Amino acid sequence: MASEPTSNIAADNAGPGDLVIARPEGLYCPPGDFYIDPWQPVERAVITHAHSDHARFGHRHYLASRAGANVLLSRLPDISLQTLAYGERLDINGVTVSLHPAGHVLGSAQLRIEYGGRVWVASGDYKLDPDPTCDAFEPVRCDTFITESTFGLPIYRWDTPQTVFDGIDSWWRHNAAQGRASVLFCYSFGKAQRVLASVDAGIGPIFCHGAVEPLNRAYREAGVRLPPVRLVSEIPPKEKATFKQALIVAPPSAQGSAWLKRFGDYSDAFASGWMRLRGARRRRGVDRGFVLSDHADWPALQTAIHASGAQRVIVTHGSVEPMVRWLREQGLEAGAFATQYGDDTVEADALGSVETVTQDAVTHAPGDEARAPAFDANDTASRS
Ligand SMILES: [Zn+2]
Ligand SMILES: [Zn+2]
Repeated sequence: MASEPTSNIAADNAGPGDLVIARPEGLYCPPGDFYIDPWQPVERAVITHAHSDHARFGHRHYLASRAGANVLLSRLPDISLQTLAYGERLDINGVTVSLHPAGHVLGSAQLRIEYGGRVWVASGDYKLDPDPTCDAFEPVRCDTFITESTFGLPIYRWDTPQTVFDGIDSWWRHNAAQGRASVLFCYSFGKAQRVLASVDAGIGPIFCHGAVEPLNRAYREAGVRLPPVRLVSEIPPKEKATFKQALIVAPPSAQGSAWLKRFGDYSDAFASGWMRLRGARRRRGVDRGFVLSDHADWPALQTAIHASGAQRVIVTHGSVEPMVRWLREQGLEAGAFATQYGDDTVEADALGSVETVTQDAVTHAPGDEARAPAFDANDTASRS
């Protein structure tokens, strides 16, 4: 099995009874007549989470987790949205669907699909590490597991979140002692709130960029506890000394912009799973790189796949080939779906670069992202 050519990984062994197939519009459930995170407009879309490469404008009906409704509506206002509590079952054309926590960001869900005695689970994006801003990943037993594989290479192994946040705290504490602002770049949806909820808010004041604030609000409305955070723009220039002890959370798009000038002397850092790559911090041009991901690392992907009990695994976005090879070595049936999901490196920047967002800007952002999924093109290219 291990000797199969690596190019032979497409799910071309698709059978007539498959509960999910790949279509040009996205992953599709034939008996249920719905799509999962489709990238083209469809009649009925089940959305695993609100990152912009998974949740796009233009579908007629949306189904998503209740836990993620606030965030989804903050990004896609006025959509026709039906929500399900985690574990709640819904019949769609005779297919039983339910959503289960994926541990990725607030409201993220795995989709369980049951029909004709078979059970499939589509993971969406997921992680197993603890995260105070969302429900923990719940293993769901199934026959076929559709897994993401964003970090599906053995080099990707995360330190514990506690270790990473200790590192962020000590960087911030050190800067504050030197009278220097600490600017931390991270994606404005998910990562930013996880950082805010996890750092030691006793070190100094916390500020955020205008792109982060609407997401903070949606998280708070959903009951997630975040420390007090002020908008950078609230501070008049003559009070900029306030920033000397502060942590400032900003989207990657703010890097290199005039927006940073107000901080005077500052240290900057980037928090991302891609920081695991050699040279990523240097290419990024920041003082520090913190390896912090909202995706499963290589061991956690294996743990989740094993916990699903699936005999067949279909891999989507990320490092597909090594994962498929590994799965086949385990004696599992494995294939891949080609998708247009990004790697979450640009996700929040669909909203992040402007402080006021027009409907038009949001509408066009996902398409732009799909064409150029690598915000961090150097890093993405160099990971294989
Ligand atoms: Zn995501
Ligand atoms: Zn994704």
